[in-house]
Amino acid sequence: MPSYLLLTSLPLANMCYAIPGKITDFDGKKVIVDYFGEKRYAYNEFKEVKKGDYIYAQGGFVINVVPEKEAMEILEFWKESFFKLREVDLRLARLEGSGVAGEKTRIILDKALEGRKIDFEEYLYLLSLEDENDMGYLFKVANFIRQKHHKNACCVHGIIEFSNFCSSDCLYCGIRKSNRTLERYRMSEEEILQTVREAVSVYGFKSIVLQSGEDPHFDADGISFLIRRILKENNLLLFISVGEVGERGLKKFYEAGARGVLIRFETSDKELYSKLHPRDALSYRMAEIRAAGEIGFLVLTGGLVGVPGQKNEDILKDIFAAKKLCPEMYTFGPFLPHPDTPLSQNQPPAVELVLKTIAVLRLADVNGKIVSTTALETLDAEKGRNDGFMAGANSLMLNLTPEKYRGLYNIYPGRIHEKETVKHQIDKAIEDLQKLGRAPTDIGLR
Ligand code: SAH
Repeated sequence: MPSYLLLTSLPLANMCYAIPGKITDFDGKKVIVDYFGEKRYAYNEFKEVKKGDYIYAQGGFVINVVPEKEAMEILEFWKESFFKLREVDLRLARLEGSGVAGEKTRIILDKALEGRKIDFEEYLYLLSLEDENDMGYLFKVANFIRQKHHKNACCVHGIIEFSNFCSSDCLYCGIRKSNRTLERYRMSEEEILQTVREAVSVYGFKSIVLQSGEDPHFDADGISFLIRRILKENNLLLFISVGEVGERGLKKFYEAGARGVLIRFETSDKELYSKLHPRDALSYRMAEIRAAGEIGFLVLTGGLVGVPGQKNEDILKDIFAAKKLCPEMYTFGPFLPHPDTPLSQNQPPAVELVLKTIAVLRLADVNGKIVSTTALETLDAEKGRNDGFMAGANSLMLNLTPEKYRGLYNIYPGRIHEKETVKHQIDKAIEDLQKLGRAPTDIGLR
């Protein structure tokens, strides 16, 4: 039986996106956790735990303690598939194809493989590759490096888009304030809580992003209140993605228990940024992201690939700007033109440019996680997600927004999975990941 069938036969709530690990020791605020003989670390803030306990970790944080009987059952299941999946991943990550790549490409990628420094011009050369064989080898090397440093673990986060009201006017974005044709929605607290509850108890999510436009209805206090209510009844790693709230707002989120912030800087080029965001400044956005990291949040950040006026050199600068922010995870997705925005007449980038961005990111930071974005999947519905995974990515997000609202969170048109149930999205994601030998798990810090 193919291993993905094995996995999909697991009860959904046990699919879990995390493997229970056994605490073998303590290291200050961190616990040392064993996963099938592999040691990882996780910060422990929330729970009283002792040696021998089984826990779930997510993003390097202990999320909850798992009763031993339940842990043994899940481990028994994973024991078999874990190693099978690893074999598939290892096989797919083999380095082949260097023979057909051009000499300069091979020389640069040899440096990456040997951990030697690649300079800006060389990265730019990789980002500008056009030849299929050259690009193919770049992706192979990026995937090889992903395998070497992350093994086959793949983070699966859920995202709930709880309001499409927005006071910003980003030129590319379909939920911008000036788009008067869009029907606006705002989920009630009860609806948000119910959506989280279902995601956690029915589908086993351990990590959720709460996202919205810059909705004045929800100030930092309101969102903090919501965070508290959510965490009171769910064991969860919670990410907040509501735009800029200032350092004080961020601190409130942290105190309420959120441990992650998702905020892209969109572009690190000052002039391009102000063209795309007429009333906002890049310096504020960057200060916000830096503050999030300093407060102790896991930071998910990145930019748009292929916005009008952007050159390959700018994308490369974005990669380095993102790296400087020490993110837990990178999110770089294609710009997709929205008909009701001032950028409606522009073209999206080629899929290959997005894949090259992921691959170069992987070479530039072997440690960070990288999302294969929904926008990439929308650009190439058939292969986008898996091609992202085969170019160095190792994380994905599933859309948990209730179906009646999902279409209205219309940042770009034709968003994939807009009409699919959560169950269907999970089944498809699992099937895709299994084919690639990836385990939909996050097993803490190395
Ligand atoms: N208010 C939040 C969330 C914004 S929407 C914030 O300010 O961070 C989430 C992301 O969607 C944005 O960061 C942007 O990168 C992306 N996005 C918006 N419009 C897009 C488009 N037309 N194509 C691709 N991505 C888009």
